[in-house]
Amino acid sequence: MANSKETHTVLTSDGAQDYILERKKVKNINLRVKPDCTVYVSAPDGVTVREIESFIRSKSRYIRRATEYFRTRPQTEKAEMKYISGEKIKLLGTDVELKIVQDFKEYTERDGSRLFIHVKDKDDAERRKKLYNAWLEEICREIFTEVMHDVHEKFGEYSLPFPQLKLRTMTSRWGSCHPMKKIITLNRRLIEAPRHCIEQVVTHEFCHFVHPDHSKDFYALLQRMYPEWRYSKAVLESTVVL
Ligand SMILES: [Zn+2]
Repeated sequence: MANSKETHTVLTSDGAQDYILERKKVKNINLRVKPDCTVYVSAPDGVTVREIESFIRSKSRYIRRATEYFRTRPQTEKAEMKYISGEKIKLLGTDVELKIVQDFKEYTERDGSRLFIHVKDKDDAERRKKLYNAWLEEICREIFTEVMHDVHEKFGEYSLPFPQLKLRTMTSRWGSCHPMKKIITLNRRLIEAPRHCIEQVVTHEFCHFVHPDHSKDFYALLQRMYPEWRYSKAVLESTVVL
């Protein structure tokens, strides 16, 4: 069955409310407000528009609050990087400043809070970006692998094989894992956060090798392996905005 999407308008106590209705194979009526403030509703075929609209009216308080939240929250859009001298990046919770150096040899080198990008043609933005990304890939792999070794050791009693690390840049999650294939995928943007935040995410993913779901047992294990996980998660979410 092809899903259909239509825009409707319902009158609520807050006035006319547009919503997008999608007919889907779902059990119940689902409603959510998207970050662009559109109201999205999915409903099974058997439910009438009248029922749907009365459901929407019953959610008007939630819609009002969510819309207000998305309208007033600070702009999280990340400014496009330019890869120029003076530009700041975050690395393990601290600021690092880029320095572009014209040189005969191309390489990248970090000295404390400065990252030197040596490039043959300073004006070649594509080249600067390429060198920067190569450095980012390397530092992510180095730090994440280090953390994974620490966590792997903590899980010694489970005799887990050392997982393969994959890097991705994601906008909706910090990491994921494939318990069967023994792969952990981590978001490159984790490198911006303090090390303990990375450890929290890696520990979470390792727990999935023992419990693939988010069951009670999963959280009991996470709590035992990383008692401060809630704190680290909060720090991560306030430091790096995806
Ligand atoms: Zn999980």
